[in-house]
Amino acid sequence: MNVNLLGCDRTALTEYMADLGEPSYRTDQIMKWIHQRHVTDFNEMSDLSKQLRRHLSENTSIKGLRAVSDVVSQDRTRKWLLELDDGNCVETVFIPEDSRGTLCISSQVGCSLTCSFCATGRQGFNRNLTTAEIIAQVWFTISELSTDQIKRPITNIVLMGMGEPLLNYEQVVPALRLMLDDCSYGFSRRKVTLSTAGVIPGIKRLLTDCPVSLAVSLHAPDDELRNQLVPINRKYPIADLMAACAEYARHDRRWRVTFEYIMIKDVNDSLRHARKLVRILSDIPSKVNLIPYNSVAGLDYERSSKESIDRFRDVLLASDVMTITRKTRGDEVAAACGQLVGRFKDRTKRSIRLGTALPDAVLAE
Ligand code: SAH
Repeated sequence: MNVNLLGCDRTALTEYMADLGEPSYRTDQIMKWIHQRHVTDFNEMSDLSKQLRRHLSENTSIKGLRAVSDVVSQDRTRKWLLELDDGNCVETVFIPEDSRGTLCISSQVGCSLTCSFCATGRQGFNRNLTTAEIIAQVWFTISELSTDQIKRPITNIVLMGMGEPLLNYEQVVPALRLMLDDCSYGFSRRKVTLSTAGVIPGIKRLLTDCPVSLAVSLHAPDDELRNQLVPINRKYPIADLMAACAEYARHDRRWRVTFEYIMIKDVNDSLRHARKLVRILSDIPSKVNLIPYNSVAGLDYERSSKESIDRFRDVLLASDVMTITRKTRGDEVAAACGQLVGRFKDRTKRSIRLGTALPDAVLAE
């Protein structure tokens, strides 16, 4: 079987080298060639033995993704549609700001979660991405964005593209490890953020396996409303989710869990909602990102007015909840939160997709 080395983290590569009878320092060398120098021809890997180079050429590959579209919006947000081997496509977005550049990557083709407001959820679910396909988004965009002037265009990575990363746990964790490893991308744990709709067992496992910054898509301060907006709440209700977040934040004194809260007009944006939100966050080192809702074709939801977003924010700030209102970026090229749809065939049943019931696969997790 031909192994794609792009998807091998330190553990996998070290095991592979041990099987070949190679010394363990080969792992560092190969990781640097692939991830830092972007070399794909094994013959150029000059510090490896000839024999190892030949073995790798015959038995492995370094295979990235092909961009089928590449659009830049007025605010310089850039979105690529990247094609996978099976013809499916996922979206990756780069958001440049004055002092940082954030890459938003996908973890699944589509999403099984059916959140009522989200374009990705409405498209249905096709499959999990492999570790290689997740890391290929970083590998590809770094080489697209690097210039002589800008050596490290990406300062932060967020798993906030298509999919629910904690429902693709086994493939996502090695990808996170590659983002953090000094021989590949060397990001600090605080600069890599995994966003989840609230898959509690995944949050707990992540804390032991590979703690990175955590963001939770909350969107509602009580179970009744959250059950409607984020149906996985029926399986993992708010009280349990908050307990898991509090435990996560205890990992590091400096850590705060980010709570994402979309502002949808007349749905979740009243002062009563804001006060409830303060109450449920009271025991957790947290910060709140208020996200003005981005319109999705076919959905009736509307964005809250600037005044109601400001009023909501002021209630949180008055109770010492750290709060920022997120600027909407890339809206006109459909690269904003919840607008990523990729290109693929829906493998979930339409009835499940459009109904309020959760797919069995999600409930069984
Ligand atoms: N499944 C994970 C990762 C996706 S992150 C999660 O739910 O966190 C994508 C973020 O965009 C989530 O916070 C999601 O709730 C938010 N989002 C989805 N649709 C949106 C929309 N139409 N407008 C603004 N934000 C949206």
